Amino acid sequence: MTAPGYGLNRFLAAAHPSATYKVMDRVATRRASGAQVISLCAGEPDFDTPEHVLDAGIAAIRAGHTRYTQVAGLRALREAIAAKFHRENGLNVDWRETLVCNGGKQVIFNALAATLNEGDEVIVPAPYWVSYPEMVQLCGAKPVVVSCGANSGFKLTPHALEAAISGRTRWLILNSPSNPTGAVYSREELQALAEVLLAHPDVLVLSDDIYEHLIFDGIEFFTIAQVEPRLRERVLTMNGVSKAYAMTGWRIGFGTGPGWLIDSMEKLQGQQTSGASSISQHAALAALTGPQDFIQRSRIAFKRRRDLVVEQLNLAPGLHCEMPQGAFYVFASCEGLLGKTTAAGTRLTGDEDVVNAMLDEAGVAAVHGSAFGLGPYIRIAYALDDASLRQACEAIQGFCQGLV
Ligand code: GLU
Repeated sequence: MTAPGYGLNRFLAAAHPSATYKVMDRVATRRASGAQVISLCAGEPDFDTPEHVLDAGIAAIRAGHTRYTQVAGLRALREAIAAKFHRENGLNVDWRETLVCNGGKQVIFNALAATLNEGDEVIVPAPYWVSYPEMVQLCGAKPVVVSCGANSGFKLTPHALEAAISGRTRWLILNSPSNPTGAVYSREELQALAEVLLAHPDVLVLSDDIYEHLIFDGIEFFTIAQVEPRLRERVLTMNGVSKAYAMTGWRIGFGTGPGWLIDSMEKLQGQQTSGASSISQHAALAALTGPQDFIQRSRIAFKRRRDLVVEQLNLAPGLHCEMPQGAFYVFASCEGLLGKTTAAGTRLTGDEDVVNAMLDEAGVAAVHGSAFGLGPYIRIAYALDDASLRQACEAIQGFCQGLV
């Protein structure tokens, strides 16, 4: 439906709805009409929020913490965030250099909206999380998408970074572990990117570390501000409680960066949401300061699920995936399915056809890779119990075997 009369803001008119939410909505609609769907499309842990965090949220309500907080967040939470960055990332952060937002998504949006002007460029390595280029465009700037294929482990190389930087480059967005590929940058890889960035002092770096704790096989997590302290003054390090503590619905994200940037983001937030939910902030405080054993337990579960899904998907004729090192996604090439026809007579010409047919004919929902800037792939989120994952993989195998 088009807007009557006045029309829309031109940047919004040019934007696309969130591809991940679109598929999630489709699943909800199908389920509402009685269909059985195994959803491997939502990027959120299936675990319950830890008990002590629930208790803190309830206690906050009972204690009357139901009013506005400071725009940038509760001081106690900001101090806990500063302590987290110090403890886990080796960053010496003053609590005043932190900001609490409504989810990691808003940290990113605030940072871009606070800094971008028309004509500015933002380097977005692809595959990327679906919302990065859309947010950049919504702010009137231009995403410069750099394709990072399987041959570079889906990671940005220093050479590709150098080639993408222009006089208009304002930001580089990094995301490790990556949504949608699970790729993780090593310390050496981040250092090599940092060397390029040091020669371009006007480029800011947004490091989306939301999957920090979902990292497997003994691989160590690094973030670029930690690897290259000389970049500290222009890095926004972003994280949140959603993925680490199974708190997606609580909507608490946070970031740390140079004072001028945090202040500008706070100014923007003060005119916009006034800040994150007081109750959720109290719960997030409990998550960051309480027992941390949940993280280890969920990492073990996700590793087991990853191994299961990768093994099973590679048994499906026409699909191929490497072993991701982090997050809870498998990014599987579906090139071998293209040109084939499904049992119901649908010809598969691209990855969107593949996910649509998989949903319609196998009852399994995934997201097409082209929504993340690289096709033909499908993104499988393995944030489900083992039995459902096994059932979904068998349905996918059957779907692939039935193609002619
Ligand atoms: N980040 C998750 C995903 O990629 C949640 C949905 C979203 O915000 O895109 O599925």
